[in-house]
Formats: sequence, C-alpha cells, structure tokens
Amino acid sequence: MALIREKDGKRLHVKSKLMGESLVSKSLIDEMQLVPQRRMFPDLNILKIGGQSICDRGAKALPRIIEEIVENKSEYKMLLTAGGGTRSRHIYSIGLELGMPTGIIARFGTTISEQNSLLVSTLLGPWGGVQIAHDDLVKLPNYYSQGCIPVTHGMPPYDYFAIPPARGRIPSHRTDVGTVLLADLTGARSCIFIKDEKGLYTDDPKKDPDAEFISEIGAKALLEKDLDDLVIERPCLEILQNSEVIEKIYIINGMEPGNITRALKGENAGTVIFRE
Ligand code: ADP
Ligand code: MG
Repeated sequence: MALIREKDGKRLHVKSKLMGESLVSKSLIDEMQLVPQRRMFPDLNILKIGGQSICDRGAKALPRIIEEIVENKSEYKMLLTAGGGTRSRHIYSIGLELGMPTGIIARFGTTISEQNSLLVSTLLGPWGGVQIAHDDLVKLPNYYSQGCIPVTHGMPPYDYFAIPPARGRIPSHRTDVGTVLLADLTGARSCIFIKDEKGLYTDDPKKDPDAEFISEIGAKALLEKDLDDLVIERPCLEILQNSEVIEKIYIINGMEPGNITRALKGENAGTVIFRE
C-alpha cells in the first residue's frame, strides 16, 4: 500500500482501492480483483448435532452418536456444533406471546444451544470433548494437537442484532446457518448435518407420508423450488450458493449407525446439497 503525503506535508494517507468509496457500489464490488478466499482449516469437518432431532432424544440417541464420533477421532479433525431443539421452541413461543423482538428471541436460542453444546462436550469429555466459545475458533489447531474434540454452540452471534425476518419474528439465522457459516469461515473439508431423517424430502416426512426423497440437489434449484418446509434453515442455501469454499453440505440420519462415518469419508449417506 502506497503512502501519500498531503500537499501541505502534514497528513499521511494510505492509498488503497477502497479509499473514498462508500463500499455500497455494486459495480465497485464486481470490478474488484479478489484474491481467492484462504481455507483456514481445509482438513476440518464440521458436524452439527441436531437439537430437536438428536439432543432432545437424550439417552436414546446421543451415546451411540458420541461413540461413532470417537471412533473417527484419530482419522478426522472434527468441530461439533449443537442445535437448540424443543427448549428453544418453548422459550420462543413464550417470548413471541409476550411480544419480544427478534433480537431477544435469538438471544434465547443462543443460550439453549450453549446448553446442548455443554451436554455434548461433557459426554465427549473422556475422549477430549471440550466446549469452546466462538472466540476460541482461531485456536483450533491447538485443540487438535492436544487430542481434543471441540464443541461450540451453533447460533451465529447476531443475538440482539438478529435481522427481523420478512415473516414473523423467529430469527431465520439459527444453528443450521451458524454451522454453514463456520464451514465457510474455516474452509472446511465437509459440513455434515446429523438429523433424524434420511435427508431432504419434498415435504416434512413426519407430516406428509407421500413426500418424495431427494438424494442430491443443487442449492439454486432447491431455492427455486420454494418448498414450504425444509430439513435445514432456508438461508443455508443462499450461503452455500454464494460461498467460495463450501462445495456441498451433507444431511444424514444419525439414528442409523455408520452414516456419520460414511459422510466423513465423503459418501452421500443421505442427501447432498451442492453449490451450482
Ligand atoms: P435440528 O434439530 O437438527 O435443527 P429440525 O427438527 O429443526 O432439526 O429439522 C429437521 C426436521 O425437519 C426433520 O426431522 C423433519 O421432520 C423436518 N422437515 C421439514 N421439512 C422437511 C423436508 N422437506 N425434508 C426433510 N425433513 C423435513
Ligand atoms: Mg432446526
């Protein structure tokens, strides 16, 4: 960066391409020659343990999933996130009934997701499970060098600044979005959603027995389908589509043994949504 001295010789400026720009201009952004995004941790695998779909099932689901994660520990670096689940939905309902703004609802979601990440990290404790905060993400290599399996909460830290959605006041950026954002931030090798259904269907299979299974689909095509309900939060699709580093996300049924291992190997063990 070149330094420029003002004519009177008093002030020093740093010349840059963005000097004097509002940073709003579309054409400026299109014209900028960006260096490709660095993959901070290209050998990392991000796995989200579903809140409602997995954590809430407690002893019926978590110990076996923990076991499968531990079995893969020596081969794969993993960063786990946890969803909120039914307790989030409970406090969301109460908050909405009392007229709470989106930012308060989002903050509720963060605290519940933190509870589940403590739950998961405690179960993983004997094998190096450790709960970390978002500020600790830059220390990931240190955790792996000590044989840890870091677990963090899935909510992106918008909290009180959560963006009010077009419909209603439930924050649209929740723990699925936080997980995809982490994959983009780290340039991870994979982003795997551990849920309780085989993958994506044309509708919620719990409510619609005629829903058809979709094994593989592009993010853009899925956005265009504008399905009424989805297995992951809707903004995940746009984030994937705009990402420079995430190529696909995996959705698997964690209740079925072996699926986590298959997804870690790069197999489609459920549904794959890819960037087009
Ligand atoms: P998590 O607890 O992991 O956040 P959710 O319960 O919020 O998981 O979301 C997963 C659930 O979404 C599935 O168990 C399923 O019942 C429901 N769902 C809604 N729409 C779909 C769809 N189109 N395809 C598959 N599952 C869907
Ligand atoms: Mg969810």
